[in-house]
Amino acid sequence: MGQKSKIEWTDATWNPTTGCTKVSAGCDHCYAHKLAHERLAVLYSRRLPVIQTPENVADPFSVRLWPGRLAQPASWRKPRIVFVNSMSDLFHIEVPDVFVRQVFEVMVKVDRHIYQVLTKRPSRAVRFFRRNQDLFPGGRIPGHIWMGTSVENQDVAYRVAHLRRLPAEVRFLSCEPLLGPLRLDLGGIHWVIAGGESGSEFRPMEEAWALGLRDQCRTAGTPFFFKQWGGRRSRAGGRILDGRTWDEMPVANRIPENVASPAATAVAEESRIRQRPARVREAVPAAA
Ligand code: SF4
Repeated sequence: MGQKSKIEWTDATWNPTTGCTKVSAGCDHCYAHKLAHERLAVLYSRRLPVIQTPENVADPFSVRLWPGRLAQPASWRKPRIVFVNSMSDLFHIEVPDVFVRQVFEVMVKVDRHIYQVLTKRPSRAVRFFRRNQDLFPGGRIPGHIWMGTSVENQDVAYRVAHLRRLPAEVRFLSCEPLLGPLRLDLGGIHWVIAGGESGSEFRPMEEAWALGLRDQCRTAGTPFFFKQWGGRRSRAGGRILDGRTWDEMPVANRIPENVASPAATAVAEESRIRQRPARVREAVPAAA
């Protein structure tokens, strides 16, 4: 299903795979895991997982493929900004290369949209790119496919170096939930998103961590997007940091003029992205 999203920095989510495995502290309270075990458990359990052990079959958050969803982007006539796999991680080891390839074939071909591919496994993304260079004319990931990795604390800052090895026109970091102060090399990084954790077990974000990241972005000339403070509810603390909202995105000339989505409008006007009503089942905070 193609779905509108509540996520402030995107328009819609697209989940050709679902399910994942927790890999680092940022996964501790994964929304995708929670939703898979609650609202989406019946839907996901109807489909066999990739690895069909009895435990995996019984686990709604095991990695599952949804080939029928590969046609969704082509069915969306109006260009939009699409977060790929809000309920999974495209580069999870159980997603076969052949299926990752099919997802990229769709993204390369249906180029009226902008795709945001966020992973906690950027080293596999690099290996995938090297093995499948025929997919990418000119040896580069085209500008409408943004490649990102999550960096929630300094322990996983090494992911930035892996991401930088991808020859993408737009490389971005999601520092959410921000769990500690970060000191990052932002060379070759075109966008940074920061935000605090939300939910009943949220871990509070310190203002100094967010300001430190904002300041590093300013020094490096990297657009900075402050998503939320977090709290028991995602909007509990609002979005004001140092007296204003921070809605910067990768420079507007990377977004085709015909992308008339709210997010693209925000780029053009440097204004806040219009909020969308929550009407869809997989519209969740960013997971991977
Ligand atoms: S979807 Fe993302 S946050 Fe959730 S377990 Fe996988 S990598 Fe971690």
